[in-house]
Amino acid sequence: MKSFDYVIVGAGSAGCVLANRLSANGKYTVLILEAGGSDKRFWVQVPIGYGKTYYQKAVNWMYLTEADEGTSNRKSYWPRGKVLGGSSSINAMVYIRGHKKDYDDWEAAGNPGWGYNDVLPYFKKSENNQLGDDGYRGTKGPMHVSDLSKDLHPLCQNFIKAGEELGLKNNDNFNGAEQEGIGLYQTTTRKGFRESASKAFLHPALKRKNLKLITNAHATKVLFEGKKAVGIQYLHKGKTKQVYAKKEVILSGGSINSPQLLQLSGVGPKKLLEDQEIPVIHDSPAVGQHLQDHLGMDYLYKCTEPSLNDELHSLWGKFIAGVKYVLFRRGPLSLSINQGGGFIKTRPELPQPNIQLYFSPVSYTRAPAGTRPMMNPDPFSAFQLGLTNCRPTSRGEIKIKSSDPLEAPTIKPNYLSTDEDIQELLEGVKYLRELAETKAFKEIVIDEFRPGPSCKTDEQLIEDIRGYAWTCFHPTSTCRMGPNPDENVVDSNLKVHGIDNLRVIDASIFPTVISGNTNAPAIMVGEKGADLVLADA
Ligand SMILES: Cc1cc2nc3c(=O)[nH]c(=O)nc-3n(C[C@H](O)[C@H](O)[C@H](O)COP(=O)(O)OP(=O)(O)OC[C@H]3O[C@@H](n4cnc5c(N)ncnc54)[C@H](O)[C@@H]3O)c2cc1C
Repeated sequence: MKSFDYVIVGAGSAGCVLANRLSANGKYTVLILEAGGSDKRFWVQVPIGYGKTYYQKAVNWMYLTEADEGTSNRKSYWPRGKVLGGSSSINAMVYIRGHKKDYDDWEAAGNPGWGYNDVLPYFKKSENNQLGDDGYRGTKGPMHVSDLSKDLHPLCQNFIKAGEELGLKNNDNFNGAEQEGIGLYQTTTRKGFRESASKAFLHPALKRKNLKLITNAHATKVLFEGKKAVGIQYLHKGKTKQVYAKKEVILSGGSINSPQLLQLSGVGPKKLLEDQEIPVIHDSPAVGQHLQDHLGMDYLYKCTEPSLNDELHSLWGKFIAGVKYVLFRRGPLSLSINQGGGFIKTRPELPQPNIQLYFSPVSYTRAPAGTRPMMNPDPFSAFQLGLTNCRPTSRGEIKIKSSDPLEAPTIKPNYLSTDEDIQELLEGVKYLRELAETKAFKEIVIDEFRPGPSCKTDEQLIEDIRGYAWTCFHPTSTCRMGPNPDENVVDSNLKVHGIDNLRVIDASIFPTVISGNTNAPAIMVGEKGADLVLADA
């Protein structure tokens, strides 16, 4: 059997960072296994391509959740990246780290070393921000973060003015001293291309002789000697293969696949494993539990000013946008559609913002909620005001359906299963309407065409939330970090409780989902995780 010092499963946001950092000093041999293939694909590299990769089986696990009572018994479509870079290769590129208090709460939950002051250096270490260091931004890291304010749609200014009318501060760095306020999003892009974790961290490191990557390698089981992880079994080109890890096995398969792989390998809730006739290596009740995700809502407005709809709707418009991109790497193809944003408190007494705002100068009413026909917007000028909840209290779970590693697990989000979550979204959508009622928007808005003015009582608004809200693609916490092994999967060194030589390092370890988008935090976990691994080496 071949052997390496470290075997990493999953070349996603966190896995790519690990591959780079663990191989950097040349002392250790590192293997990274990725179930997906190459990221050298047009729609992965072009920023707006995430509208295409959203449904592309070649690069996407394309999960479907169970029907959830809280969302009117709807099943949710959950895209996850199955390609080098993982979900960072198919995401919407918004660069947000979360609120300081999120990390101080992680530490207070019994995780020393994970407070804001501890994790800030890791965020900075990964980042090369175009705007330079302001005490919070990194400038020497491998991952470029771009400020595209000059390229963003002029309607973003109406959004910012609307927020200011409601008393929000114009915030030019949501990752800086204060998260609250309204402003423009920065993105993980570089010179008009997507800056995924594979591009920033993995590809440059592949020159090293001590780092090996195998693509289209689907890990099916962690191999154990007693309670010590010693390797990985995986499927590659139709064959079952095994590889030995001399020091550690590291799972970085993301919030759905890491708990799935643990359960398949015999680490999980005893009863579940016994029901599936999987030999129990270690009874760990929390594997797959505590699933959290942000939920999104949009309100849509027709307007008198041209929006991106006018640029992209016609064939001619698409052609011009294509030419702009090919010649100058600029224009709508080089951007995310999430251009403006903000963080607000729906009640002033709250210690930190509880709603994240999104402004997109584009609309897609002919598409079902949550779908992304980016290049085919509505044939009239319109924009959307959107939101997500920052710290949902509903909790779901991930469970294997069988011992077949190729069968997708059951995903039960339990969305909107608490009154707090419903109340928060209700307050949030009312705020969207307040924004639309400001002078800055009133002078250009023709009407609200989704959900529309007839949806007005609290009951109607809640019914609309339950019928329309969809995932914001941020599942976390299914291999939660924390001190008590009965309630958590990994300790604060990211080592799996009760098992030797096995860590989980990805978004599944978040003690709670952070207030914002989860790519930068997953990369931070990769950075800090690499230091923890090397400290033990
Ligand atoms: C459509 C979409 C839009 C998003 N938009 C944003 C955004 O704008 N900003 C933001 O910050 N975040 C966004 N996110 C979320 C963010 O990208 C993720 O939270 C983050 O990438 C998660 O990182 P990870 O390392 O935990 O997992 P991933 O990046 O998902 O990586 C897991 C990797 O492991 C591989 N893998 C899994 N199982 C196996 C196995 N058994 N064997 C081998 N390999 C395996 C997968 O193929 C994948 O490559 C979005 C996500 C999606 C899907």
